[in-house]
Amino acid sequence: MRDEEYKGYNRVNRKFAEVLFPYLQAGDIIWVQDYHLIPLGMYLRKMGWRGPIGFFLHTPFPPSEIFWILPWARQMLDDFMCYDLVGFQTEKFRENFESSRLVDFEGKYEDHCFRSGSENLKTGVYPIGIDPKSFQDWSLSPRALKQVNSIGKYIGERAMILGVDRLDYTKGIVERLKIFEKFLEKYPSWKRKVSMIQISSPSRTRITEYINQKRQVEMVVGEINGRFADADWTPISYLYRSYDQESLAGFYRSADICFVSPLRDGMNLVAKEYVASQSVNPGVLVLSRFCGAAEYLKEAVIVNPYDLDGTARALKLALEMPLSERKSRWISLMETVERNSAKVWRDRFLTDLTSRQAEFYPEMTPETGNQLLNGVMAPFDNREHTDLRLNKDGSEN
Ligand code: UDP
Repeated sequence: MRDEEYKGYNRVNRKFAEVLFPYLQAGDIIWVQDYHLIPLGMYLRKMGWRGPIGFFLHTPFPPSEIFWILPWARQMLDDFMCYDLVGFQTEKFRENFESSRLVDFEGKYEDHCFRSGSENLKTGVYPIGIDPKSFQDWSLSPRALKQVNSIGKYIGERAMILGVDRLDYTKGIVERLKIFEKFLEKYPSWKRKVSMIQISSPSRTRITEYINQKRQVEMVVGEINGRFADADWTPISYLYRSYDQESLAGFYRSADICFVSPLRDGMNLVAKEYVASQSVNPGVLVLSRFCGAAEYLKEAVIVNPYDLDGTARALKLALEMPLSERKSRWISLMETVERNSAKVWRDRFLTDLTSRQAEFYPEMTPETGNQLLNGVMAPFDNREHTDLRLNKDGSEN
């Protein structure tokens, strides 16, 4: 971890704030998305913006003892204090954040509101979702059916296990492939009766770790296919490309198992999309316990992707699961996916942020806001942002 990287991160956030600021108007609500932009709120505050700002973390928040390995942990936690509301995918991630915030800081939480002097930050849990109706519709669309037909021609009578991810080392693609290899080893009667399709969409292709990950995945696919394939059967089809979501719905619909095995993931929308694309003869979702989705999709077959033998057994169980059980699991999963849609996620977050606005900016009207932006009025929010660390990235003052 190098200071230079942290400085660069801050420079980009500062630039982002400078570009955004002129567009802001009184009455606006700002909602910042994800870890790339944690310091953005701090820069906007520093520039004078006193309106409400929320932040949502799409990725996991690590346990406190891991988070504090970061040399800049304190600054980052201070940056979070510039937001009115910070949202997490799961209760666990929120707990991790809250306990990190309590290390070495004065202040306390009451009802998930952190109070320290005049600072006041609320946290919330907002599991991100999808638009289930779109996936239901797409799974029946001509484009998806074309995909289903061509997959059907290739797979024939065999069962199909599907993996869909960005090619990212957090997604556990190598582990997944090795679990499939273990499965073929342990249960040789399944040879020729099952194929795996792994879609890996290119991601961050110029970063060394991603280039290495791509090489490793390709090597493992080659090894497994070389070891098990025959003239009339290739165990793994590896597709290094991106599909539009309508076509993906066709893949989801054709899959007997969707194998979602991240080593760490904030939520994982592929898991939800797979559920939403099933119908009368639903497949089985095999889901890593290390993603946010596992906190909610309890009727999936939950696995530990580090446990090769255990997960290989789970694959067998999923492939042999009777229709009645697949249906009852799917019905419950579908209810959860529908209850936690993208729309619900958005509305819940913005409702909570807006209620914070009422609490903290009671006098905010378009007129007062404009005056404020024009520097006519002193900031009137009841928090003090005195410690905005002008030397934060070492390059400013
Ligand atoms: N996706 C896509 N085309 C592809 C592969 C993936 O559109 O070829 C989409 C997929 O439908 C999902 C998203 O990429 O909506 C991946 O989201 P997820 O939460 O699973 O992982 P992330 O990439 O955000 O870490």
